[in-house]
Amino acid sequence: MNLEDKELEELFKLANKIGKKRYHKLTRQDFEDYRKFDKWRYINGDSECGTTQESKDWVRENSDWLCPICEERYSQRDGKTIDHKLPRSQYPWLAMEFKNLWVICQRCNKEKGEMHWYEYEHYMLIHHPKLYLNVRNVRPIQLLKSLKN
Ligand SMILES: [Zn+2]
Repeated sequence: MNLEDKELEELFKLANKIGKKRYHKLTRQDFEDYRKFDKWRYINGDSECGTTQESKDWVRENSDWLCPICEERYSQRDGKTIDHKLPRSQYPWLAMEFKNLWVICQRCNKEKGEMHWYEYEHYMLIHHPKLYLNVRNVRPIQLLKSLKN
């Protein structure tokens, strides 16, 4: 089955179904990876963005001047945040998967919330059609395919 050919909603339903199935098979390692993300990101837990040296370096290497979604300067959008493309709440085993992480501005992150990726693409298409391709073009296709396993 070619995921690219599927309609957004159909894909969302599929990923959601698989995500739920995976929930029942969560392992101890999944849980540890989930917690590892907090340790990697925070020292004192007072910021959304990288606060350990390692996560700070990662943020610097993986971000530019502008948020990849809204194309505005981070400083005008409440700063940088590390976001999980596939939300941690739904896919805890992808918490420390770097292919799942990207740097976006605080406001876009809040707006994205806990939406599943396809739900978010759909949301952008409806609410911010001019920015839709910014999201569509970074669809984490490998990760979405991995949900089938
Ligand atoms: Zn933004």
